[in-house]
Amino acid sequence: MPNRPNRAGPHPAADEASRSLDVVIIGAGFAGLYALYRFRDVLGLDARVYETGDGVGGTWYWNRYPGARCDSESFYYSYSFSEELEQEWEWSSKYPEQPEILAYLNHVADRFDLRRDIQLCTKVLSAAYDESAARWEVTTDRGERISATYVVTAVGCLSAANVPEIPGRDDFRGDWYHTGAWPKQGVDFSGKRVGLIGTGSSGIQATPVIAAQAEHLTVFQRTPNYTVPTRNARLRPEEWAKIKRDYRAIRQKTRETQAGFPYDVLERSAFDVSDEQRREIYEQLWAEGGFKFLWGSFGDLLRDKRANHTAAEFIRSKIREIVKDPGTAEKLCPTDHPYGSKRPPIDTDYYVTFNRPNVSLVDIKRSPIVEITPQGIRTEDATYELDTIVFATGFDAMTGSLLKIDLRGVGGLRLAEKWAAGPRTYLGLQVAGFPNLFTITGPGSPSVLLNMPVAIEQHVDWISDCIEQMRVKGFRTIQPQLDAEDAWVEHVNEVAKQTLFYEAKSWYLGANVPGKPQVFMPYVGGQPLYRQKCEAVATAGYAGFELRA
Ligand code: NAP
Repeated sequence: MPNRPNRAGPHPAADEASRSLDVVIIGAGFAGLYALYRFRDVLGLDARVYETGDGVGGTWYWNRYPGARCDSESFYYSYSFSEELEQEWEWSSKYPEQPEILAYLNHVADRFDLRRDIQLCTKVLSAAYDESAARWEVTTDRGERISATYVVTAVGCLSAANVPEIPGRDDFRGDWYHTGAWPKQGVDFSGKRVGLIGTGSSGIQATPVIAAQAEHLTVFQRTPNYTVPTRNARLRPEEWAKIKRDYRAIRQKTRETQAGFPYDVLERSAFDVSDEQRREIYEQLWAEGGFKFLWGSFGDLLRDKRANHTAAEFIRSKIREIVKDPGTAEKLCPTDHPYGSKRPPIDTDYYVTFNRPNVSLVDIKRSPIVEITPQGIRTEDATYELDTIVFATGFDAMTGSLLKIDLRGVGGLRLAEKWAAGPRTYLGLQVAGFPNLFTITGPGSPSVLLNMPVAIEQHVDWISDCIEQMRVKGFRTIQPQLDAEDAWVEHVNEVAKQTLFYEAKSWYLGANVPGKPQVFMPYVGGQPLYRQKCEAVATAGYAGFELRA
């Protein structure tokens, strides 16, 4: 069952039950930690982080499922704001596992003395804007009321677990877990018959590791996914020495490229080369591993269906080569969406795991799950007896964690009401009608389409520069003008329609959560254009925003 932290630590003392701050930051993951550093240590503001978990780390605190690891390489899936931090921290491998990333974030919290302004085990319940005072009133589940000039959400894009409402779920006699709320003490699968639902990045990472331990693993697959090997490897001392020497150039490159990686997206088309050359390029990238297969192959994979087909076909040929049973291989071959139109996973030994005698694959698109019984899972044509069920069923992405907070803007307008037909923001940074509320990596920004720490640092830097400018120029509040917000929402959708992203029922579109409005949420215009727009807006005195003294 979903793991929740114990209520560690005392309740706030009476004088702490109401506080006045410059900034309330919600969430202590990558975004919240850096935001606290910037606002408190660089701007000198009275800032405080409120965090539900009993430790820092956000995504990397909650996602402790077996096999969880990052899928951007560690030396650029990390902070760039401190050269000292860069020089003193060494990652063990290209794609370290969750405990190492969590240790890094804990190190950052200690190294920058952030903990004294982080309140753990505290869920922010609501934030309401008081127009007369031009301040936010924030409440927590510990009975506190905090008055703040600014509220900055650092709640993550993939934090609100999506646990499907399958009939009978609560009557299951075994244990069940969601990958995004994994128990801190871990789960022992030895001797267990395990059922895993979901084959996104989390399910694909967890499958080989659970299979190695469980008596039997049954993977319930609704949509087959394309995955490319990571080819994880330890980073040798000479590689580290080079990375450390080159860090500034690496970081600069991550800020200039489409997806925040330190390598270029090649502009060439898949049809600029011969069939043989194309196959060779895919073979090389398959052997190298990682996201380069998508970003470092051809520039038209996400724009041209025919180009995309060449990559998809290559991956299908690999599945058929690796998986011995032809029936299982066919079930694993994705055909209903273009490669990359859903967030592509990268894996360690995923397809080969289906050659194990203790692993089976069930196609629940052909034979859907009818119910969970006390003994296991019943599909339309079979019953599977299980001791444990793992939901790798993803998240109510991008909006879920914001809408869980009762956010009310001018005139008591609820964010949930304003976003009833899908999220509306200006630059993904602010929402009209919600002055002085900033949303780090909010919907309408590139966020999840970028290497996340790069997206986070850009947002935090922009917000912190904005607050500084407001203070210098004597403005008390900032919020988007409605027409600027409307134009941005339209632009975000226009750009997405020029790509293949609309061809998949993905969480980018909200299609994974029943009843959620289907609006393309991240900005696909790419990092260079997005940065340029954010900078131009700031340089023009925050064009499209309404500033009030
Ligand atoms: P996900 O990509 O949304 O995948 C969820 C899976 O569960 C899909 O296969 C989905 O099938 C299935 N599913 C959802 N509801 C279902 C239902 N009611 N019945 C049956 N199957 C159902 O979620 P995720 O794997 O947790 O990954 C989410 C995102 O988190 C990733 O895309 C990535 O951005 C991030 N992530 C990153 C890392 C990393 O960097 N290392 C690791 C894990 C996750 P359909 O496809 O048919 O909807």
